[in-house]
Amino acid sequence: MANSLIRTPVSNPATLEVVGHVDVLPADQLGDALVRAQGVQHSWADTDESSRRQCLADVSELIEAETESLARTLTLEQGKPLAQAQLEVGIAARAFAYFATLSLEPEILRSDERQTVTRHFHPLGVAGLITAWNFPLSLMAWKVAPAVLAGNAALVKPAPSTPLASLALGHILDKVLPAGLVQVLTGDNDLGQAIVEHPGIEKISFTGSTATGRRIMGAAAPRLKRLTLELGGNDAAIVLPDADVESTVLGIAAVAFRNAGQVCIAPKRVLVPAELEASITEAFRDYLSEQIVGDGSVEGTTIGPVNNAAQQQFLVDLELAARADGGKFHRTALNRADLPGYFVQPAVVTGLSPTSRLVREEQFGPLLPILTYGSVEQAVAMANDTDFGLGGSVWSTDKERAATVADRVRSGTRWINQHGPAELDIPFGGAAQSGLGIELGREGLHAYTEARIKNIRN
Ligand code: NAD
Repeated sequence: MANSLIRTPVSNPATLEVVGHVDVLPADQLGDALVRAQGVQHSWADTDESSRRQCLADVSELIEAETESLARTLTLEQGKPLAQAQLEVGIAARAFAYFATLSLEPEILRSDERQTVTRHFHPLGVAGLITAWNFPLSLMAWKVAPAVLAGNAALVKPAPSTPLASLALGHILDKVLPAGLVQVLTGDNDLGQAIVEHPGIEKISFTGSTATGRRIMGAAAPRLKRLTLELGGNDAAIVLPDADVESTVLGIAAVAFRNAGQVCIAPKRVLVPAELEASITEAFRDYLSEQIVGDGSVEGTTIGPVNNAAQQQFLVDLELAARADGGKFHRTALNRADLPGYFVQPAVVTGLSPTSRLVREEQFGPLLPILTYGSVEQAVAMANDTDFGLGGSVWSTDKERAATVADRVRSGTRWINQHGPAELDIPFGGAAQSGLGIELGREGLHAYTEARIKNIRN
């Protein structure tokens, strides 16, 4: 098998230097990996749940011990500043520790003179776990930990531009779990498609774009595969007229420009009352003026490049369209990136109408439109004027009023005076076309099981 593998380079998005090579597994060789996974899954499912929990706890400790090298690898292939990469490694470690505290004990649904009814959670078999390039490690951990705790095997397919940190996490898993139980398969989109189509894979958990999510749903339909889809978003941050400008802008900007804007749940549209537009724009300019754009490996960098050439080109196109629509770009960050990589100078953008592409599409980059509204009614309508429904936030000095406004926003999570992050014990999922199913929390664990009822007549 090894002879037919093609080696492909992985590049640093800041410098374009090659930082590693991986094998591209041809889609037609997926079967070998699957046979290995199937060969070990049954015995794994038969182990005590407590020993599986202990394995997860051990993995968590090993990840923590490897924080520095995992974070460096992540920054080299993904581009995010090292401090953010360290935080991501921490999230991955905590995900394993969190799922190690959960249990799949059967639930008693009814117990009376007539019947005893219980609900049992059975593993599904082999799960295909497909991840995006923005948070390769934490997304992998969110999926692998519940999948294996529930007694499944897993085939992980990272995005083609960010396989190295996922492989490194795979090596850590190999130290604790039976060989072949979790395999990281590197390859291109065809390999992802083959995983979705393969009849031997019972469950797909996918994080990526809505367009790919639609394709996956279609490809999974013939076998009615279990699906969890965590897709794109176009979150609105609604700033109410009584909001404190400084803390609101700090709260929004810290998430909107994190990871160079490549965050699924980040404010991607800021909706402000017309009378606050000038002061809010000024506060964003101040925030950006303190940011340093550059190589994520270099100390002091706060905003790295975007991850790949296609994403950079997409943002260039959005900017051209926004300029043609009369958008004004406010750019005050210091650019230390005298480098050939995929840099996009961060900006807030005013003067756009709700029909501009930068407003309607998920930019997934450091270009943040600020739009004005006349009434709160109109702000809610603008927030909901999208096919997405991942997250959203409302900012105000009156929390109760903000919460009432948030009730009318259609999204999987609504925050008040904050925007993100997703938390391990809180169910996370998208409304509308931002996803299907739930990740994280107890429901996120149940997503890797088949629930079967046992009904005993007493
Ligand atoms: P993408 O959809 O292009 O790719 C994601 C993964 O799917 C990659 O591993 C890719 O190789 C694979 N893939 C591509 N085509 C496939 C196919 N036909 N069948 C199976 N797999 C296939 O997404 P991306 O550009 O890597 O990621 C960015 C998107 O991810 C954004 O829209 C972002 O909002 C979204 N995202 C969502 C969440 C969430 O939790 N909702 C989290 C992170 C990112």
